[in-house]
Amino acid sequence: MATEQGATEYGVTGGGPVLALFAHPDDTEFVCGGTLALWAEAGRQLVFGFCTDGSKGSADAAMTSARLVTMRQEEQRAAARALGCNECVFLPYEDAMLEPTLALRRDLTRLIRRYTPEIVVCFDPAVYYTDGYIQHPDHRASGEAALAAVYPAARDRLTFSELLAEGLEPHNTREVWLTSPAQPNRWVDIGATLDRKIAAMQLHTSQTGDGARVATILRARAAQEGAAQGLAAAESFHVITFAF
Ligand SMILES: [Zn+2]
Repeated sequence: MATEQGATEYGVTGGGPVLALFAHPDDTEFVCGGTLALWAEAGRQLVFGFCTDGSKGSADAAMTSARLVTMRQEEQRAAARALGCNECVFLPYEDAMLEPTLALRRDLTRLIRRYTPEIVVCFDPAVYYTDGYIQHPDHRASGEAALAAVYPAARDRLTFSELLAEGLEPHNTREVWLTSPAQPNRWVDIGATLDRKIAAMQLHTSQTGDGARVATILRARAAQEGAAQGLAAAESFHVITFAF
């Protein structure tokens, strides 16, 4: 399975923690749940961080934002456990209003220094659309803030020096895996974990209803992402490996 120096097709071989930094509860499962499950099976610690409160994700006229936030966090914790992740961190930024502010960058830097990941997974911050899809602005904003937190903020001692007072030392992340990439350079075969990914996604019942439609969507997406590589089911990424 080795594809390049010291690497496997699904990441560096150090076996260190993986920190997934995304915009909304359910993003992790939808875009990279198969790969996250593979990492957990390989013994890596998984931590999921979510920037927004998920308070807008409902078309139900009887739903309130406060109730939705609680529901979605409970759904997310269950979905994370289904993938092998026992720790979710929810930041309180308002759903649909996310901006890549310095405050968000500091909050994500805090998580990177606290959990010292070998791999950070986040959205590609590029403005990205296809014939049938527009990347959510919260996704772009979370990706931009996460990249800036990885480099240079988490690395540089004098940046956000208030974090030192919290006992959080600088940290160098080894790899960044951008999901929903405009220009993928890595494909992970998720044939072994696609069913777990679907089952985890279906735990987000406030978002997926009975779950049948999302299963169809995820199977089609996995087939589409794998097609060019001759894989029946894949997730695609743009992987950045730091030289330092
Ligand atoms: Zn999202």
